Amino acid sequence: MKFTPLSGREFPRFSAIKTFFRLPHVSVNEKFDVALVGVPYDGGVSYRPGARFGPSHVREASSLGRGFHWSRGVSLFENLKVADVGDCPIVPIDQEKTYASIEKFFGALAKTKKFVAVGGDHSITLPLLRAAKKAAGEPLNLIHFDAHLDTYPAAWDCEYHHGAFLRHAVEEKLIVPKQSLQIGLRGPLAGGDDLDFVKKHGLRATTVDDLKSVGLKKFIETLPNFSKGSTYVTFDIDCLDPAFAPGTGTPVVGGLTTYETQQILRSLKIKNLVAGDIVEVCPAYDQSDITALAAVDVMFELMCLMS
Ligand code: MN
Ligand code: MN
Repeated sequence: MKFTPLSGREFPRFSAIKTFFRLPHVSVNEKFDVALVGVPYDGGVSYRPGARFGPSHVREASSLGRGFHWSRGVSLFENLKVADVGDCPIVPIDQEKTYASIEKFFGALAKTKKFVAVGGDHSITLPLLRAAKKAAGEPLNLIHFDAHLDTYPAAWDCEYHHGAFLRHAVEEKLIVPKQSLQIGLRGPLAGGDDLDFVKKHGLRATTVDDLKSVGLKKFIETLPNFSKGSTYVTFDIDCLDPAFAPGTGTPVVGGLTTYETQQILRSLKIKNLVAGDIVEVCPAYDQSDITALAAVDVMFELMCLMS
């Protein structure tokens, strides 16, 4: 079995059946290193729905993905066997069943492989972290790109909406708050007490102001190393400014540029990146595939960090 993308020089990039990065679509039981998986669930959104169509939209745009990383000098698909295993089963109208299915699917997967999941809304990250933590056998370091804190309280009496995954991850001890990093945060917040949880648990929260006030290069120098333990990266596409990612459910102005997130991802020092996800891509609001292409690039950087 060869784990190489379909060549654009043989088969034009607009042709063929769409898989992530034109990689083979295989069973999870095959032997390879990294699984790319869609999780088309958006039952946790609080505003615009539609992230359930994220995986197919990102697959389509990933036809333009390529394997050689110019600045890293890495030939990704020569170093790493990567495949598209399709979508995790979900139940669109039942979050409890969906969470159970995600934990089961990724729990089995994570025993032998790393994964990059494509959502779906940010509520999927909680069961993904449960599965990744269980496989790692220890609480995880977490790098969290987002405009939002995602430590918010229950809404409409529902605990597991897309703005609460991180609060639950901390409470369930899936992650180590002191070994976390949040990037891209910005207001406005509903109230000043939204920051209480972050302060109480010592989450390392950085804002867009923190970056823009000192400049990208200096900001990158302040970032911690993740040289110990197992690390998970969750990338909410709304960390990007709506100009760079219009296709998302809860956009916030004043965000990061795609270039800035690329540079940050390339600078991260992570010894063992076990898994990652890209969430909140909502194709109905995307323009000219801007958002999907940004997501494809994040997938590429995460895979390079795994190789
Ligand atoms: Mn967000
Ligand atoms: Mn989020």
